[in-house]
Parts: sequence; structure tokens; C-alpha cells
Amino acid sequence: MGPTAGTTGADGRLSDAVRLRRLGETGMLGQGRYPSLDRLARAAAHQLRTARAVVSLVGADSRTVAGQSGPPAEHTFCRLVVDSDAPVLVCDARTDDRVAGHPATAGGVIAYAGFPIRSPDGYPLAAFGVLDDRPRDWEPRELLLIEDLAAAAESEMAHAASEKRLRERLEQGDEHERAFLQALLDSLDTGVGACDEDGRLTLFNQALRDIHGTGAADLPAEDWPRAYDLYHPDGRTLLRPDEVPLAQAYAGKRVDHAELVIAPAGEAPRRFTVNARPLETPDGQRLGAVVAMHDITEQRRAETFREVRLAVARGLADSHSAGEAADRTVAAVGAGLEWAVGEFWQIGTDAITRVGSWAAPGHGIPDRPQHVRRGEGLAGHIWASDSELWLPEVLDDPRTVLRAAQVRAAGLHSAIGVPVRSDDRVLGVLLFFTAVPLEPDPDVLDLLDGVCAHLGRHMERRRAEELALELARVKDELVGMVSHELRNPLSAIRSYSETLLDDPALTGEQRHLAEVIDRRSTHMQHLVDDLLDLARLEAGQMSIDPQPLSAARLIRETVQAQRPAAEAKQLTVTVDAPRHLPVLADPVRLRQVLDNLVSNAVKYTPEGGAVTVTARLTGDVVIEVADTGIGVPPGEHHRLFDRFFRASNAVRKGTKGTGLGLAITKAIVDAHGGHISAAPAATAGSVFTVVLPASHD
Ligand code: ADP
Repeated sequence: MGPTAGTTGADGRLSDAVRLRRLGETGMLGQGRYPSLDRLARAAAHQLRTARAVVSLVGADSRTVAGQSGPPAEHTFCRLVVDSDAPVLVCDARTDDRVAGHPATAGGVIAYAGFPIRSPDGYPLAAFGVLDDRPRDWEPRELLLIEDLAAAAESEMAHAASEKRLRERLEQGDEHERAFLQALLDSLDTGVGACDEDGRLTLFNQALRDIHGTGAADLPAEDWPRAYDLYHPDGRTLLRPDEVPLAQAYAGKRVDHAELVIAPAGEAPRRFTVNARPLETPDGQRLGAVVAMHDITEQRRAETFREVRLAVARGLADSHSAGEAADRTVAAVGAGLEWAVGEFWQIGTDAITRVGSWAAPGHGIPDRPQHVRRGEGLAGHIWASDSELWLPEVLDDPRTVLRAAQVRAAGLHSAIGVPVRSDDRVLGVLLFFTAVPLEPDPDVLDLLDGVCAHLGRHMERRRAEELALELARVKDELVGMVSHELRNPLSAIRSYSETLLDDPALTGEQRHLAEVIDRRSTHMQHLVDDLLDLARLEAGQMSIDPQPLSAARLIRETVQAQRPAAEAKQLTVTVDAPRHLPVLADPVRLRQVLDNLVSNAVKYTPEGGAVTVTARLTGDVVIEVADTGIGVPPGEHHRLFDRFFRASNAVRKGTKGTGLGLAITKAIVDAHGGHISAAPAATAGSVFTVVLPASHD
């Protein structure tokens, strides 16, 4: 590029869009002067022995001075340089036509030598101009020098532009990365936090904020345990500052699956597994530490509950008496839930008696009184109210007054009690005390309810079994022994299958198998119950308590109960009974009779048939259950009431049954001083007739 006279450039070069973009990309517009460009201007002025040199960035209609030597020049010919994209040499502006009337001349710019400064891809962005206030003939040597300095300015500007781009990219990258990271962290259920190289907490994600209920706080590490309520897994011992996982990681240690408890005053404690890592550059420079906390409260609690249920089931299956079963239950619950003391109180006729107790190591049992009356003390109160009780602070409650001194001496706080029921009877009370105050917890009460139901069923089975044993000595040895031998393993099977079904973690297939076990063992249990029922009836051991009642009402209730089964087979069920039908009967047992007869009629009548229950008062009360079903083959009627007898047609058809229902029915009717018979019905099917004494009051 030689020194040529300035020519007017192509139209619009000054406002060319790409040129202006490149100018912007230098990042130098509006930034004032740059020391490096000032130095180049100074060098030019000095070498050319003139006062002024200017580096001007030329916009569409603006000029920015980026480097300068000497007093400022309000106007130069820089626009000409950029517009022509060529050097502009003016020896005497006053006589040069190209710049006639230019304001720079009026401002004292008489001689001018300007060289374009271009972007790396060739767009003219600025002019490197040397100014003189006298006319001057520019020598080639001088022009070469200015051209060199302009080239140096050009590389300075290219450098500035690339630095700016880099800075922008970094800033933008940083910002994107930070936004991405924050969104990612906030989407986690795991609490994540970090501290910087000075050990200050600098980052909290949303989950950690939820855990701690606060944002990042500028707290010294020694305050963390107390400020964030960080406890050992026992939930009682505050962490030492150097035991806080983040502090350990900050000290360079890796923490894997540590467990801690966060227990803010007045709130339920929560349990976490914690991982923490030191944060270092690849060359080992410490940057801080990160911590991740995962809430395992629910998971741990579900595990604990499952273990308690299993321990109870195991204890019940292995126990040899109702008392032992209660003891084992109390121990399984007390130990499993880490409570201090547990007791089982058994309800007698006029008092409730503590028959079993358990205490965690290091805890004593307040052992007086041994018996209390209904409504007295905690156990007597639970008996009377037949509902659970949870006292967070037992000493505050007047019902503790009987044992207040012992409770205080033993350092016990909360009392939790639940009734143990069987069907609708309260058999006893489970009562627990804790060494730390506990607020009522519906999940724990649910667990206790389940445990008590399990214990109640078990005790009831036990009682029946003990009766069966007695019976074996009395009358029908075979029945008694069979009942006993079957009941024992059956109660274990049922205990375990109930426990299995309680487990929410079962897969579909496992649940299906457990349900089959449960269904089949329930069926066997009914069989054994029926057998036992029958044996007791026949041995005269079952108390029948006849009272005046309305047979019509019992008939209607029975038919109502069987209606869904009848509707499923589209059977017509009709009742024909007077409203007034006073009978002298035990209501529970008469209902059993009616249930057996009506359910048989439904069972043995094919789809679309009819079942009719007729009743009348003829001195006695006569109830007939007739159906249009399969009937009983001739010659088999007289055996229908034998135990285990099943008519040949029923067996052939594969209808399920035990052959015990009619035997029980007959035993009940006999025990009432009544009579039962079976006959073919008028057209098809069977009719069963029961005659019972009427009540005459
Ligand atoms: P299950 O019905 O369980 O077999 P039951 O003792 O109730 O036992 O009945 C004994 C048998 O009497 C039945 O197996 C069946 O053969 C017969 N039976 C009872 N009721 C009817 C009825 N309504 N129609 C036909 N057969 C009946």
C-alpha cells in the first residue's frame, strides 16, 4: 500500500453494516483511550517532530479517540481515510481541493498523514493520523514510519477485539453453566450444599433449603451443629463441629454414607444419609467442599415398622400360651421402636391386671400397682374408653397419679396405650413408656393397631384351642386332638401370611401367592372352627342363651345378607313370614342356623331358580327354607345331618363344602329343644324345616 492521495471511497462504506459490526466487536467504542494506542501516537508525534497524532475509531457518524498525543483535535481527516479505505496525505489543507472548507482546517490541521487501521478481515475501522499545524511535504521515510505504527495499532485493536470476544464467551459460558447447575441442583430431592475455600457456605439447593429452612448463611463451621440441629444417629447427641460431614470434607476427608439426624426443637426429627467430598483443583489446590444429604426418614421408618411386625408375628407363632404371646409382643414393639418400658394388662371380670412387662436395658419398671379397676390409672382408663391414648408428657396427666412417683424416678416421659380387642371384646391393654418425649404419631398408632389386632386374633385362637384341649379329655378325643393339632400350625401360618400381606413392598406375584396362602388357611381355619364348634355343642359345653325375640326380623336380616350371592345367580328370594313371630332362642345361634340353611339353598340352586323362606306360628315356630335346586338323592336324606356327609350329587358337581354346616345346625336346634328335618320339595329341590319353641310372653 503506497502513499496515495485520498480518494472518496465507495458510497456508504462509512455506514456499511459489516464494518460497523466489526467496529463494535473491538469493544473499544465509548471506552475512552487505551494506553497502548496512546504510546503509539506518542511515538509517531515524537519521531515526526510534531505535536499531535491521533488514533480515531470512525463510526457511521461518530468518532472515538482511542489513542492520542498532544492537545486534542476536534476534527481531523480520519473519516476520509476510512471512507476511502486508503492513506490520506494532505500537505497544505488550505490549498487542497479535497478538503476545502473542512472544519479540521479551521481547527489548525494544516498538514495530515493518515493511514487506515483495518479489522483482521479487511474492513477499515479507524485512522492513524499525524497532524501538523504547518504545511509539510511528507517524506517517504516518514510515511513508512506512520504506516508501521498504524500496523502496530491494527494488531493492538485486533487483540482488544479477540480479548473482548473471549471475555464475553467466558462470561456467557459461566452464566449458562451456573444456571444449568442451579436448575439441576434444584430439581434434586437430595439436599446439596457447598462451602468455598474459606469454609463459608456458598451454595444451597432447594432441597437443602427445605431441610434447613434457611438459605446460605455466613456462619463459621463451629456453629453449624447447633445452627442446623445436627445430631448423631441416636438423635440425642449433638455433632461436634469436626464431625459435621461438610467440615470433615473441608478438612480433606471423604465422607461416605454417614448417617445423621436433624432434630429442630419442636419438630419431628428427620434422618439422613450424607456423602461429602473435598473440592480440589487437579493440582491439589483446595477450593472448598460439597455435601449431599438424602432423607431416609420414611424408608427407615418403613423398615422399622416391617421389622416390628415381623418380630411380633415370630413371637406369636413361637409362643406356647396367651401370656407368652403378650410378653413377646410387648418386647418386640418396645425394642423395635426403641421405647423404654412396655406392659401387657389383661382384663378380668372386675379388674385389669399387669401380666407381662418388658424394659429396655438401663430402664426400670414402675411395678405398682399390679391391679387397677376399670377407669383407674392409664390401663384402666384405656379399658374403660376402649380407645388409644398418647400422652406426650405423662407427668402432666392426672391419670398417671397412681404411679407418678415411679414414672418420675424412672425418667419416663410419654405414655402410649392401645386396647387389644377380639371381635368386639376388649381383652387387654398394651401400654408403653418412652425415655424421650414423643408427640402423637398417627403412623405409629396405625402400627400398634395392627399389632394389637394380630395379638387379639392370636389370643382368641389360643383360647379356643385351650378349650379344645380340655374337650379332648372330655368327650370326642379325635375331634379335640385334630382341632388342637391343626389350630397350632394354622395360627402360625395365618400370622405369617397376615404379616406378609401387610408389607407394602411385596411384588404383585408375591402378593398373589401370599393371598392364596391366606385364603386357603382361612378356609382351613373355618373348618377347624366348625369342627370345634360342633364338638363343643355336642359336649354341651357351648352355652346357649335362649331369650324371647322376633324370628321374622332375624329371617329378614339373613336373607338380606345372602342377597348379593343370590343376585349373582339371578335367584328369586321370597320371604313369607308374619310380622309377629316370637321365638325363644339364642339370637347368635339362631342366626347361625338361618345363615346355614339359606346359604345352602343359594349354593345348591342353579341359576334362575327360587329360594323361599316361610315361617308361621303353630303353637311352635315353624321355619321352612325351600329351594328349586339340585335336591338330595333318594335314600340320602337321613344322613344329611351327619358330620362330613355330603350328598353324592353335590360331590359329583364339585360344589365346595365341608359337610359340617348341617351337623352344626342340627346341634344348635337340638340344644334349643327344637327339631330339624329335610325333605324333597313339592316340585324340585329341597325343603328344610326347623321347629323351635315359641315365646309366650
Ligand atoms: P356343605 O354345604 O358345606 O357341604 P352342609 O353340612 O351344609 O355342608 O351340607 C351337607 C350336604 O347336604 C351338602 O354337601 C349337600 O350335599 C347337601 N345339602 C345341603 N343343603 C342342600 C340344599 N339346599 N339342596 C341340596 N343339597 C343340600
